[in-house]
Amino acid sequence: MLVIETVDEMRAWRGTVSGRVALVPTMGALHAGHLSHLAVGRASADAVTVSIFVNPTQFGPTEDFQRYPRPLEADLAACASAGAAAVFVPGDGEMYPARAPAVEMTVPSVAAGLEGAARPGHFAGVCRVVLKLLNIVQPDAVTFGQKDYQQLCVVRAMIADLMLPTEVLEVPTTREAGGLAMSSRNRYLGEREREQALSLIAALRRAEGMAAEGETDPAAIESAMAAVMQGRGVAVDYAAVRAAGTLLEMERVTSSRAVALVAGRLSTETGEVRLLDNRPLG
Ligand code: AMP
Repeated sequence: MLVIETVDEMRAWRGTVSGRVALVPTMGALHAGHLSHLAVGRASADAVTVSIFVNPTQFGPTEDFQRYPRPLEADLAACASAGAAAVFVPGDGEMYPARAPAVEMTVPSVAAGLEGAARPGHFAGVCRVVLKLLNIVQPDAVTFGQKDYQQLCVVRAMIADLMLPTEVLEVPTTREAGGLAMSSRNRYLGEREREQALSLIAALRRAEGMAAEGETDPAAIESAMAAVMQGRGVAVDYAAVRAAGTLLEMERVTSSRAVALVAGRLSTETGEVRLLDNRPLG
């Protein structure tokens, strides 16, 4: 497995691969969810490359960019055993040379609410780094996780709009035994906070149960989800029911097209941890 730090070396490696290439973009601190992307990539391509880059432009000034975990040795070992052909680990200066950006990113409307509202500028940063990575690696396919459902929708919209020749491979969410969605940020959680974090999946299950029993009022489902999270001391950023794909608000929940999405914050000894999750209804 090659470990590549520069754009030039990555382009050179890409030129040596004759078959299909899949890219798995990550911010590292890899867990089983990320490794499932490698499996999806390997099933669809001849060579898989993983990028590990904690992208500064997608973090707000008060967010956890500095303390985001960076266990590079363990990540490289995980990539090697999961069959990556190359890992791209550029430094900040390689991805963002010290000059003002020549182009501002204006993100699609699907980026407007939810994460976009809670994290101003986040999706512009995501689109900027994903577009750079796609231009550097020129993969035939790229994986994105349903875990970050709005990100998946935003990236799909960007790729379609800019007519990029890259197939998006959608990867289901990998969960821990109790249902907690795996996240690099879970490593900040102690036992008590893990219990609190389980309220996200509990809220989504509640939404699914209500929809299955015939509840069609999104507001009723949303307030029930928020109550589940608040009941365990989680500060709710949003608990929403939206149309799948567009993330538009719905007047009535029709289960075949709806998705429930939650985000919340809980305090730990080392600071606040923000978690998100989602689940289709029906
Ligand atoms: P991140 O390193 O958090 O930026 O995530 C990199 C990719 O892995 C993104 O496409 C995420 O949606 C995806 N991902 C994160 N957590 C999970 C999970 N539990 N299961 C599947 N994919 C995930």
